[in-house]
Amino acid sequence: MDEAVIREVAQLIVEAKGRTAALTGAGISVESGIPDFRSPGGLWERFNPMEYATIDAFETDPGKVWQMLRELSRVVTEARPNPAHAALSRLEELGLLSGIVTQNIDNLHQAAGSKNVIEFHGNGSRLRCLLCGHLEDARAAEARFATEFPPLCPYCKVALKPDVVLFGEAIPEDAGREAMRLVQGAAVLLVVGTSALVAPASYMPIVARKMGAALVEINLEDTILSRDYARYVLRGKAGEILPRLVAAVEADRVGQPLA
Ligand code: NAD
Ligand code: ZN
Repeated sequence: MDEAVIREVAQLIVEAKGRTAALTGAGISVESGIPDFRSPGGLWERFNPMEYATIDAFETDPGKVWQMLRELSRVVTEARPNPAHAALSRLEELGLLSGIVTQNIDNLHQAAGSKNVIEFHGNGSRLRCLLCGHLEDARAAEARFATEFPPLCPYCKVALKPDVVLFGEAIPEDAGREAMRLVQGAAVLLVVGTSALVAPASYMPIVARKMGAALVEINLEDTILSRDYARYVLRGKAGEILPRLVAAVEADRVGQPLA
């Protein structure tokens, strides 16, 4: 990746004076060891998401879906933030990133210190009863797996569901509203590690673009955004590109009056 392009994008971020937001997807956590839907040899090769990660499958056979959830939770529990998560956290600390809309359920942005994180698809560390709304800490439920699997609601005795959005479920109302507000207020939107195929998250870059924002795509591969929507396409690993970008931002700010 050409350093001159990195410097140009860094300048754009500095000039946006805090009106830069980020939309992240599974790709930002691949370098933390959590496979995205495309990684060969990953979890998703054994558990086709369209078969296991749907609300229909959960309602029909929660035990089957929990086989997948149990493995996913093992992978997520072991994962630590990588330099891409750290770079976005630093950008917020510099007052230059207004927030992150993440499609991930792995909590890694928060673990890296990011404060304004909108969890578009929920968070896997909570379990919820679909009947009575009872919430439970996922760790507490895991501790009983030997005697109770899948974990049950103590009141209704039905299987608890991780508080994440499965295919076929609606986006939590607050998260949807806050995400849209953040994206609509952005002059620059960093779109990191998402194939931009899963709706409605995939609408956000398009809305931002229509509102006049500059899209900066950071991805290993071309996506539907690369050609017609992105102003800059930074091709490569998020864990390498984002730290370079933030280093260039810090270099650009030296000598600039504080915003
Ligand atoms: P996706 O799997 O459809 O696409 C991932 C994208 O990331 C691809 O375009 C790929 O080229 C790119 N990518 C892979 N490694 C990268 C790297 N090191 N640096 C930069 N880019 C990289 O993911 P999606 O668009 O997020 O949609 C899938 C849905 O499933 C989302 O809701 C997603 O968050 C969820 N999911 C979440 C996790 C998690 O919480 N970590 C993991 C898998 C899937
Ligand atoms: Zn219940």
